Amino acid sequence: MRKPIIAGNWKMNKTLSEAVAFVEEVKNNIPSTDKVDAAIGAPALFLAPMVEAAKGSNLKLGAQNMYDKDSGAYTGEISPAMIADLGVTYVILGHSERREYFGESDAFINSKTKKAFEHGLTPIVCVGETLEEREGDKFEEVIKTQVEGGLADLSADQVKQLVIAYEPVWAIGTGKSADEADAQSSCKYVRDVVKGLYGEDVAAAVRIQYGGSVKPENIKEYMAQEDIDGALVGGASLEAASFLKLLEAI
Ligand code: PGA
Repeated sequence: MRKPIIAGNWKMNKTLSEAVAFVEEVKNNIPSTDKVDAAIGAPALFLAPMVEAAKGSNLKLGAQNMYDKDSGAYTGEISPAMIADLGVTYVILGHSERREYFGESDAFINSKTKKAFEHGLTPIVCVGETLEEREGDKFEEVIKTQVEGGLADLSADQVKQLVIAYEPVWAIGTGKSADEADAQSSCKYVRDVVKGLYGEDVAAAVRIQYGGSVKPENIKEYMAQEDIDGALVGGASLEAASFLKLLEAI
């Protein structure tokens, strides 16, 4: 059985005091980690105080990005060692906004994924097609390239541990979520690609999230699908009450 994982992706939102207030508000109401893994992907600046505020609770923290080097002359970048040292659990890699606005390639995302493992972080590797690609019948080609590229040269054990977030770009922040049958068949396709690369065992173990306009009103339908093991949630993870409702639905 794959344990569900619900992760918020706050993107570039909130101030430090708002971030800590959020943790204080939710931390005693996060369900048991036997049932679900709950995390917030927060701006890097907030991670240390958020980890501190979440201590003793079931809430885990994630970074939204990192560089693929341990340390060095890379002005403005944040290393996996820095993130891991704070007590952060996850790192979101290759989000479509990073691919689109910051030109991140599959090879770069792959390099970061490997680095994340070196530092004991659990990568959440994002894949997803644009509307143009979907309408141009390129869904399978795009997803296969992203999954193969992102996971290249990882060991079977590493792939079992990581999380893949399937997020159709046209559904992110648009309110236009994919219907659940569509999300299921897309997540199944992702799993099939993993199966082709790593075999049945690994494909059965890897957790695949759906993301794109997930909210308390629709999460149940997604979670009822066989190949959907959780959600990566932007807008609906920003308010404490809404985040808790997402978890209650599991
Ligand atoms: P959304 O964002 O839930 O606001 O659509 C999802 C994401 O970008 O991870």
